Amino acid sequence: MAGPELSFSKHDHEGCKSYSRDAVVQYCAENGLRLTASRDLVLEILLSDHRALGAYDILDEMAKRGQSAQPPIVYRALDFLVANRFAHKIEHLNAFLACGMPGAEHSPAFLVCNNCRKVAEATVNDTDALLERFANNSGFVIQNTVIEAFGLCPDCQETAE
Ligand SMILES: [Zn+2]
Ligand SMILES: [Zn+2]
Ligand SMILES: [Zn+2]
Repeated sequence: MAGPELSFSKHDHEGCKSYSRDAVVQYCAENGLRLTASRDLVLEILLSDHRALGAYDILDEMAKRGQSAQPPIVYRALDFLVANRFAHKIEHLNAFLACGMPGAEHSPAFLVCNNCRKVAEATVNDTDALLERFANNSGFVIQNTVIEAFGLCPDCQETAE
């Protein structure tokens, strides 16, 4: 299991990576989706760490691997990954993160480190319920909720001391 709460602690990240990629491959097979070479490469780059990456970070990383691509290729791959919940967009950073439970129906919340851009993903049904109640009382219909909290991860708190 690749508990997304592991992001900020020392853990077997190889296990995390293969868990997530296997889940994506299986989801694609079950749902008739094509994990093309460029989609797979962008996913692999996102899975290399629990860090939010911008499209240009991804392009740089592709170039380093000798797989240079044009921005539209990366944007299209990211659209695919996000639409199928294999990755999430951190709106405030305009950056992307591999999902810890790919394909599963969930409403994630993010803890984002301002210093190293590491992100922990959690599912927070309690907060959903709170917002839902507030929305109901206001006669409002929620279509999409974004929860992003910014601060310092344990490692970066240590270096700041
Ligand atoms: Zn990991
Ligand atoms: Zn997720
Ligand atoms: Zn940090």
